[in-house]
Amino acid sequence: MTNSAKTLCPYCGVGCGLEVLPPAQPGKPVNRDREGNPIWQVRGDRDHPSSLGKVCVKGATVSESLEKSRLKYPMMRDSLDEPFRRVSWDQALEAIVNRIQTVRLTQGPDGLCMYGSGQFQTEDYYIAQKLFKGFLGTNNFDANSRLCMSSAVAGYTQSFGSDGPPCCYEDLELTDCAFLIGTNTAECHPIVFNRLRVHHKKNRKVKMIVVDPRRTKTAEAADLHLAIKPGTDIDLLNGIAHLLLRWGYIDTVFMDDCTKDFPAYAEVIGHYPPELVARKCGIRLDDLEKAAKYWGESERVLSLWSMGMNQSSEGTAKVRTLINLHLMTGDIGKPGTGPFSLTGQPNAMGGREAGGLANILPGYRVVNNPEHRAEVEQFWGVPLGTIPAQRGRTAWEMIEGLETGEVGLFWIAATNPAVSMPDIKRTQQALMRSPFTVYQDAYYPTETAAYAHILLPAAQWSEKTGVMTNSERVVTLCPQFRNPPGEARPDWEIFAEVARRLGFKKGFNFKSSAEVYEEFVRITEGRPCDSSGLSHEKLGTHGPLQWPYPYRWPSLEGEEEKQQNRTNKRLYTDLRFNTPDGRARFAAYHCQGLADPPDNDYPFVLTIGRLYGHWHTQTRTGRIEKIQKMHPKPFIEIHPRDAEKLGIEENDLVEVRSRLREPSATGRGIGQFPAMITQAITPGTVFVPMHWGALWSKDAQANALTHPIACPISLQPELKACAVQLEKITIATESLDQEPSEAVV
Ligand code: SF4
Repeated sequence: MTNSAKTLCPYCGVGCGLEVLPPAQPGKPVNRDREGNPIWQVRGDRDHPSSLGKVCVKGATVSESLEKSRLKYPMMRDSLDEPFRRVSWDQALEAIVNRIQTVRLTQGPDGLCMYGSGQFQTEDYYIAQKLFKGFLGTNNFDANSRLCMSSAVAGYTQSFGSDGPPCCYEDLELTDCAFLIGTNTAECHPIVFNRLRVHHKKNRKVKMIVVDPRRTKTAEAADLHLAIKPGTDIDLLNGIAHLLLRWGYIDTVFMDDCTKDFPAYAEVIGHYPPELVARKCGIRLDDLEKAAKYWGESERVLSLWSMGMNQSSEGTAKVRTLINLHLMTGDIGKPGTGPFSLTGQPNAMGGREAGGLANILPGYRVVNNPEHRAEVEQFWGVPLGTIPAQRGRTAWEMIEGLETGEVGLFWIAATNPAVSMPDIKRTQQALMRSPFTVYQDAYYPTETAAYAHILLPAAQWSEKTGVMTNSERVVTLCPQFRNPPGEARPDWEIFAEVARRLGFKKGFNFKSSAEVYEEFVRITEGRPCDSSGLSHEKLGTHGPLQWPYPYRWPSLEGEEEKQQNRTNKRLYTDLRFNTPDGRARFAAYHCQGLADPPDNDYPFVLTIGRLYGHWHTQTRTGRIEKIQKMHPKPFIEIHPRDAEKLGIEENDLVEVRSRLREPSATGRGIGQFPAMITQAITPGTVFVPMHWGALWSKDAQANALTHPIACPISLQPELKACAVQLEKITIATESLDQEPSEAVV
């Protein structure tokens, strides 16, 4: 291929458009990396509506990882202490089919679990749902999005009657006040931040408020940084609401016509006077008042959040409490306004549309709604009652199921839970107990591969065709432009092949991913995420489009069509919500604080997060030289005052311990990190990046310390905070730097 291809960046939920050029260009030498692998050149796609040609270091270097450390052939072993042996696809798939049949007979369908990923394309997600929920009769499909944004899903659903971020990126350039809470947007969603930053710099009246215990790059750019104590978000939000109400910055017409349940909320926020809130949050009273004033005086307020809100034992309550502020001031459904959840993964949004969590079904339907189940069953042509009425196991409940022996087959695809799950030692022990783990991934080695009985090589982004949806609901076709290595296959093809071998031939007879997508969009018809007017062909010829995009639109063409898609950039512009009475719901929550709060023995709060260059567990970015140089090793941020008390100096090795809930135990986990002493962190809080698993660094796994206590509504674990103790130790720091062992397959 000599022509360029347009596609979407496969890293974060910003979803930037990329243009890739083949390694061989006429008249030029082949572009190669140091190991001689051909490298595709990547640049931003100026025509992509979400990113307008911009791209960050991850997107710009993505092609450098594509050839390295790839899993090329199916592999099997009978037990975890044996080496893998290469097998044919036939042998691997037969073993999986036999195991599925055995588990169905001996344990029932609930003994089967699949743990998928926001790296999936929508077609992969859809086929996995159809197989598990529709034909195997279990809702035990969950994705790593459970750890990322399920609180946002729950919050939107409960407040608005349906999931779906109501805003678009254009709002970043139309707002008068951006309120960023629990998001280091500058590093984790850099191109979104870039758009906001340009607007903010150009317009002196535009305010930017950042709420974060760390003085991140995002906070540095703000007019007002509220470095609240971890776990006090709801105190802060209720305190702002208290002041908005006291000062009369409320939209009573909007509240009367479009919302419900304000009185109960007003009663709760009455308990959050500013003096008390400032004290609880550890911020200055005048800063709290300034935040309320900025919000109240601004015509158009846009809030942005990500994991800092979602990864919490009260994640849904936090999201809903933030939405309350928009409902009070009528900041929704208009340009430059709204509560905007930034998704972590490139196609976490597509997963939501395809029903890719244990509690949802395709087309923004939910498992516990009998009508929704019946609609999906009818569509799939399976007997009524096939889809269980109860949600399936969430990510962490799958781990618990391995511990109790209730999970007889664990199928992991496109994710690395042996690094990314909370309480990683416990997770790893549970994985050791798994009687049958299938691990389907593009890369080898990974930390999770060590716990698999069967390895299935997956074709990844660039090697298969499918669609992905970004945080602003823009759907982009990602065409195949390279051949997969060895015998790797697209995820959806693997799932469909297993389904056919199980005897479900009729439901899975797809010849291409375009056919899969054609079926998927039909199931969205009439739903909030209606994409029934989209197809691979349409997206291929027109370029990225935003949903809702109902089937009646394809009759429109050219400017008329563009106009129609533009007028639907935002949800709820008619101020009617997806609840039965069309009104949005206020929610009244008191702050519960952290599930694992500090005390005398564990006096610090550990928070974890991402760095600008790295992506998740480094499966790709750890193999890219430029990014490795940018972020060579893990570290722990400590405030100078805390460091002095503990006698810790820059680069000293610090042992970090978190607590077990059983009183007799000595600690849940231990990690060792070089100290980075910085004023950027609030005293009493420490920060560790989450990217280093066992392959990349010894004893520096952030999730060795975290716990699985989850929000009771979204069931998203509180990865963002746990109590720890610190101690300076003296061992050679070289042991922290470790190259991953080379692939053996
Ligand atoms: S901001 Fe996100 S989507 Fe855009 S290039 Fe960077 S990693 Fe990719």
